[in-house]
This record gives sequence, C-alpha cells and structure tokens, in this order.
Amino acid sequence: MATTPASHAALIADVRARFGAKAAITDPADIAPWLTDWRGRFHGQAAAILAPASTAEVAAIVARAGELGVALVPQGGNTSMVGGATPPADGSALILSLRRMNRLRSIDPAANLAVAEAGMILADLHAAANQADRRFPLTLGARGSCTVGGLIATNAGGTQVLRFGTMRALVAGLEAVLPDGSVHDGLAALKKDNRGYSLDHLLVGSEGTLGVITAAALRLVPAVAARAVAWVGLADPHRALDLLRFLEARTDAVEGFELISGSGLALALEHIPGTRNPLAGDHPWHVLIEATAADAAGDPGAMLEKLLAQALEAGLVADAMVASSEAQADALWRIRDSLSEAERAAGPSTAHDISVPVADLPRFLTAAAAEIERAFPGTTATAFGHLGDGNLHFHVRAGARAKPGWLEAEGEAITHMLDDLVTAAGGSISAEHGIGQMKLAEFERLAPPGRLAALRAIKHGLDPHGLLNPGKLVR
Ligand code: FAD
Repeated sequence: MATTPASHAALIADVRARFGAKAAITDPADIAPWLTDWRGRFHGQAAAILAPASTAEVAAIVARAGELGVALVPQGGNTSMVGGATPPADGSALILSLRRMNRLRSIDPAANLAVAEAGMILADLHAAANQADRRFPLTLGARGSCTVGGLIATNAGGTQVLRFGTMRALVAGLEAVLPDGSVHDGLAALKKDNRGYSLDHLLVGSEGTLGVITAAALRLVPAVAARAVAWVGLADPHRALDLLRFLEARTDAVEGFELISGSGLALALEHIPGTRNPLAGDHPWHVLIEATAADAAGDPGAMLEKLLAQALEAGLVADAMVASSEAQADALWRIRDSLSEAERAAGPSTAHDISVPVADLPRFLTAAAAEIERAFPGTTATAFGHLGDGNLHFHVRAGARAKPGWLEAEGEAITHMLDDLVTAAGGSISAEHGIGQMKLAEFERLAPPGRLAALRAIKHGLDPHGLLNPGKLVR
C-alpha cells in the first residue's frame, strides 16, 4: 500500500473529527521539537502528531491507519539514543505520541504492583510509588522525560540493573494495541500463564515495531529506608571489577556500581555547572557505588565506610569518600547522570552502547581502547557505564584529529572496528539502547542469519505492511 499525503490528510481529519483537536497536532511549531532525536543526529518529517487519550483511541487510530496504509511512529519522551522515535526523513509516517496517556491507573502496595499508562513519565512513577511506601527501582538519567512505554519498548536498563534487572524483569503484564488494531490485555499480571508465546515478552524491546504499548502492570519493591553513595578513585577497570566482587562477597546491599573514566569526569566538571571533583586528587578511573537498606535499622553508610577502608588496605582502591548527606549523594549521582549531556556538549564523538561478558569487561575495555587509538592516532577512546552488567557506553572522541566533518568521515570505520571487536568477544552491539535506525546496518551486518530471519518473520507476521515504526530494528 502506498502512503500518500492524501491518506495522511484523511487519517488526520478522521482522528480530529472523532477525538477532537487535541488528538491531531498539525502546527509545524508544535511538531518541530519531536522531529529530531535527543543527540541531534537524526532529523525526520511528519505532517502530524496523533495524540490519543485512551487505549480505545489508540486502537481506532491504528486500525484506521492500517486501512489507509499510513505508517505510524510510536513516541514517548523522545529520549532514544538510537533515533528510535524519530520519524522517517521523507515524511512518509505520522508520529503517534502516547504522552497524553499518562495516568497511574492503580497502585496496589499489598500486591507490589502499579498499573501505569504508557505516557507516564518515569520520575512521576517514582513519586507515585514512594507515596505508596514502595519503590519502582529502575532509574536512569532521562527519568524526567522518558516514559513507561518507551522504557518497555527499549527494554531499558539504567543504574540499578545489578540488583533488579532490566525493564523486562519489572513488567508483570502489558496492554498493547497490535498492528491490526486489536487490543492485547495482559494487565491481569498472571504469575503463571502458559498459553503459548508470550506477547508481553515479545513487545518488551520491540521498539515500536510490533505494537503500541498503552499500559503496563509494573513490579514494585520495598521503599528504601536508608541509602549510601560512595565515590572511589582507582587505577584501572580490573581493580574496579575486583572491588565489585570484593563487595558482593561481603554484602548484598550494593545495587548500583557505575564505572567512570577520568576523562569522563573531566568532561562533566567542564560542561555541567555546579559539579565538583568528589576526591582531592586525579585518578584514571572512578566508581560510583550505591548501597541501600529496606530496614530502618540498616546502616549502609557505615558498612560502605568499613568495606572501602578494607579495600584501600588491600590495594584495590586509591581513594574513596562516602557521601555524608542526601544532598552530597545527589551531587555524586548528578555527575554520573550528566555524563551523556557532558559528552554531547563537548562536541562530536562516536557513541556505542555495548556489552561483553562481565568477567571479560576490563580486558576488553583496555584492549579495544588501545586498538582504536592505534588505528586512528590522535583519537581518545574511553567509556563509562554499568560495569556489573558488562555494559559500557564506549565513546571515541576526535582529539587531535578534530576537524569539521570528522564524525562523518571516520565515524563509520570506528564503529565497524569496535563492533567487530565486540562480536569477536561474544558481546552485543546494543546492550540497552536498542537498534533504532542508528544501528540497523551494523545489526544486519553482524547478527547471525538465523536470528535476523526469525526477527523478520515475526515482524512480517504481525505487521505485514510494515506500518509500525518503519526503518527501525528490522526491515
Ligand atoms: P522514545 O525515545 O520516545 O522511544 C524509544 C523507542 O520506543 C522508539 O523505538 C519508539 O518507537 C518506542 N516507543 C515509545 N513509546 C512506545 C509505546 N508506547 N509503544 C511502543 N513503542 C514505543 N537507556 C537505558 O537503557 N539506560 C540508561 O542508563 C539510559 N540513560 C539515558 C540517559 C539519557 C540522558 C538519555 C537521554 C537517554 C538514556 N537512555 C538510557 C535511553 C533510553 O532508551 C530512554 O531514556 C527510554 O528508554 C526511552 O523512553 P522514551 O519515552 O523517551 O521513548
């Protein structure tokens, strides 16, 4: 089915007539902010943002779009790191925004479950869970703007995966509109349900290509009674992994363990107002540690002080501090959470979200950085991220090679080299951000043929005309 401006106009008119002016935004000034990705690398076009207010409206829009052959790009907070929510540049799709569907439908502390609509902002979900004396444990730097639907569609990770897993582990059930306009209702959140393939699991990480998530039953955990945040300076990533294992052998209270390079910290100090170096001296590598206790009698701060003193004596750690107040703890997290923003402010770099087996991560990081800097003399390869998950945000900066157009000229070759190294190490070229449009060619180049064929068969089976998020993840 060919997509034509006339079919777009027909869909827009239909949506406006049935669901009101708010459901079809066509003013170019209102659409513009949603046409470019967070990193500013992808620019799309769309004649309208369709903004339904209920699951029934989503179902009607998807069904009508199917009849008219109009492609739709589901969008939440537009914080995708891989251009996943940016519409095609040729204007061949409309944006389907879930942001008006932002209600908390219910919260049941006794069942440890919340049912949130897809457009609910993560920070609002955190607040709602806290009010019910519970916690939704997944968190990440974009929590003020990313949405429940986007987090599920990308199977997001974040900083507490070490203990609570990725979004997949926190989804107890989903409600979604499938490409034919039918509604899948899995919100009963059954603990046991073996009626064949799990549609819920298929939709987690499907990046808007198999269905439009409209609501989710999400798992809650006990509220935190006390937390402690520490900042550690150390010599290399090997010692960082040794420190994690040292702590894990002595306590189960550690839930965040983030590796940060010295150069990453320097970028944050330079570009993020109000940040300051947590330690007196400079160190090649740093780790931010968060430990929590659900029990008011727990004292994770004292525990971290004691264990880090032992680690210092054992030579694992060069220096360490434990935040003495919530404000200081927040300031440490602010450095970690603003690393992507600092990178963005510092100018072009190639950005890679990769994973390798955890035990191999220190070797991989050191060897891959050296190999890339050797092949592209003058560049700086460095990383930060979720060490305990084997997941790094590995970035290569132009350094001495900086000149206009550097990224366009060399970015692809650098990406190829790193992705080949990751694949040889048995790793993944997308640990938590997804494939989107940014990684599609590399995914097709490196994925085992059987895996690609299975993905394409699933996509074709559910969305035979390719109308949901075309050009992303699978084609
Ligand atoms: P969008 O960007 O709008 O969409 C993302 C994808 O989901 C697109 O493919 C879109 O089509 C699809 N989608 C959105 N809503 C729906 C829906 N309702 N139904 C079906 N498909 C939908 N990610 C991590 O995993 N870990 C991190 O630590 C992390 N840190 C980040 C830090 C910053 C500063 C930023 C900007 C991003 C970070 N991310 C991280 C990226 C992360 O993927 C997004 O923040 C989030 O998962 C996407 O949510 P969103 O609502 O913005 O989705």
